[in-house]
Amino acid sequence: MTARDPTIILDPAHAWRAADILRAGGLVVFPTETVYGLGANAFDPRACSRIFAAKGRPTGNPLIVHLAGLDQLPLVAQRIEPAARLLLERFSPGPFTIIVPRSQRIPDVVTAGLCSVAVRIPSSPVARAILTHCGFPVAAPSANRSGRPSPTDFDSALEHMDGRVEAIVRGPDCEIGLESTVVRVESGRVRVLREGAVTREMLREAIADLARLDAAAGNSAESGSATVELCSGPEYGALDAAEGPAEAPGTRYRHYRPEAALIAVERADLAVALDRYGGCATALLALRPLQSGEVQHRGCSLLFGFDSLDHYARELYRCLRACDQGGCETIIAELPPAAGMGRALRDRLLRAAGRY
Ligand code: AMP
Ligand code: MG
Repeated sequence: MTARDPTIILDPAHAWRAADILRAGGLVVFPTETVYGLGANAFDPRACSRIFAAKGRPTGNPLIVHLAGLDQLPLVAQRIEPAARLLLERFSPGPFTIIVPRSQRIPDVVTAGLCSVAVRIPSSPVARAILTHCGFPVAAPSANRSGRPSPTDFDSALEHMDGRVEAIVRGPDCEIGLESTVVRVESGRVRVLREGAVTREMLREAIADLARLDAAAGNSAESGSATVELCSGPEYGALDAAEGPAEAPGTRYRHYRPEAALIAVERADLAVALDRYGGCATALLALRPLQSGEVQHRGCSLLFGFDSLDHYARELYRCLRACDQGGCETIIAELPPAAGMGRALRDRLLRAAGRY
């Protein structure tokens, strides 16, 4: 792409055009149920390198490969352990990514030279239509400039990628609003590398079902011995200091940061934070409805109140962008309890705050 080629805006009904551009080595931004993705043909190393250039992404951070369905798995992966396959079947299509041994067809640039590849089958109808027309796997990280919050609506995707890609699909707002859960299964042990809408509670339930199935079949297959290994969010930070390739390479980079300074606080500490940072250049994000003019908001210029964890997740990145556009210097964000979707929200908020 040269400076003279403007980015085309595609209607979601023209998924076949998006697929044609991808097939020809182009970059296409498209909506998924999690966030907007920046796609390239995963078999085309040149196209995939352009993803890193368009995002300003470090080449050591591997890409997730998106498939239209489970039948495409042999294109990208080698032998998969039974527990990994069962989890993928259980949570696909959806916001679930699994790390599996890679096939030789996947170029090094996609996996940052690792011998594993991250695979996801999205549920968004627009993404599925594009992937089905493609017939090949599509590598697609979030469509933001590296380090910034991911785009969850068309306008944000356009702001990040206009002029850097061949086409952007004008799709709907993303239903989930946070990136997929990333999981690795090794010797029957399940490890969460990134928190997302497929929660640890859901994983535990699925694993218990697998164990029951194994027991009913009268065998002690690997899936039966799977356990979710609990590694709390801040442990990711420890990977920064790790020598050699990190287990979850993406976690060592700066992520999700708005321009304003974000202060992430527990509910019990909100009042103190408002006393200290409240004012006309401050925004407040809280897990309850907020009324403008309430004295306890200390004159914050932007108030975002969410009535559920799902609502908070869906709106988070859009609110961060609105804060930057509104000229806020400080964002005070309430940390939800660390359960269910609350874990993924805490992870993103703490990283946005630069806490790990
Ligand atoms: P995103 O940039 O939002 O697409 O995030 C992709 C995430 O998946 C990053 O944290 C990557 O480091 C992680 N990832 C991708 N491929 C692998 C892999 N082969 N092994 C471990 N983590 C991976
Ligand atoms: Mg990303």
